[in-house]
Amino acid sequence: MSSLPKKARVVIIGGGVIGCSVAYHLTKLGWKDVVLLERKQLTSGTTWHAAGLIAQLRATANMTKLAKYSQELYGTLEAETRIVPAH
Ligand SMILES: Cc1cc2nc3c(=O)[nH]c(=O)nc-3n(C[C@H](O)[C@H](O)[C@H](O)COP(=O)(O)OP(=O)(O)OC[C@H]3O[C@@H](n4cnc5c(N)ncnc54)[C@H](O)[C@@H]3O)c2cc1C
Repeated sequence: MSSLPKKARVVIIGGGVIGCSVAYHLTKLGWKDVVLLERKQLTSGTTWHAAGLIAQLRATANMTKLAKYSQELYGTLEAETRIVPAH
């Protein structure tokens, strides 16, 4: 993006899995002016190291629910967010 908006409803700092997930879910809920700021490159932080394990059993029930939701989401995310080039 060459220029940033002067204001936004929400500004998310950091384009790792958490920031991208917050942006994804807010826009899915219909929020329009969501800005995500990344200082380097999307997923260049610890997310870059974490393409391996999506463990299903976590330390708490809520973390386990989150892991289950993530695994289900990853099954459809690529198709859902695929950008179709304009002709
Ligand atoms: C070696 C390693 C292996 C791992 N393996 C796994 C795994 O197999 N499975 C798993 O589930 N988890 C794994 N993890 C843990 C996982 O990587 C993290 O829990 C997860 O990536 C955290 O995501 P995040 O979005 O909070 O942080 P990050 O991915 O670090 O994102 C933070 C982003 O914020 C940006 N940023 C910081 N400050 C600013 C600023 N002031 N302005 C703008 N941008 C800023 C950074 O550049 C970065 O892109 C692993 C971690 C490591 C280090």
